[in-house]
Amino acid sequence: MSLRVVGFDIETTHLKANMGHILCAVAQPLDCKPMIWRIDKTPGFGKSAKSFVNDKPMVKGIIEYLSDTADVIVTHYGTYFDLPFVDTRAINWKLNPLPPIAHIDIWKVARKRLALTGNSQAAVCDLVSATHQKYKPGWDVWRKAQYGDRKALNVLTEYCANDVAGLMENYARLRPLILHHPFHSLTAPHACPACASDKTQKRGYRRTKRMRIERIQCQSCGTWFDGGKESV
Ligand SMILES: [Zn+2]
Repeated sequence: MSLRVVGFDIETTHLKANMGHILCAVAQPLDCKPMIWRIDKTPGFGKSAKSFVNDKPMVKGIIEYLSDTADVIVTHYGTYFDLPFVDTRAINWKLNPLPPIAHIDIWKVARKRLALTGNSQAAVCDLVSATHQKYKPGWDVWRKAQYGDRKALNVLTEYCANDVAGLMENYARLRPLILHHPFHSLTAPHACPACASDKTQKRGYRRTKRMRIERIQCQSCGTWFDGGKESV
């Protein structure tokens, strides 16, 4: 079975989850339509002061969806923002946090494997000429959204979905640089472990002290991986 790779991003009222809450979130399985959560779709939203900060149903929905749907979560800076934010909100609401799921943080890939002036998503989108470039609505959109302005929430949700679409373009382009990409369970010999494509090509050998190892490159995503090994 192929790995289910899901891009994920949230928009919040504050950078810290004991001060703020989630306004909207987008999870996008690779090559599929995104799943969208927004606070104004929560039952009872706008009917009481409390309802404006009640992200509990969203947090529960996000955790259930990612638990059921994702073998790998892809984020940009999610190690330090999106995932701990969701877990903090879960603990706040006495919900179970996210289960262990493999996570690829494109910010870390950029920092370790590229030489950019900065490792923001905008910088990576620019590098790979992503169709969905990063843009930023004014801060007033976040301010209005937290008071329940539906137009502002529309803008924010569209922004978040564009971010995830750009993120998945960055992931697809940087995939050959991702060290230890979780492996697809493969049936075809020499299929790509990172994307499961069977369009692969043998390209020379690499040597270790005792082994000669076939070097194989995926023609779909560019990932290099090892083929057959023989003692030398
Ligand atoms: Zn591949």
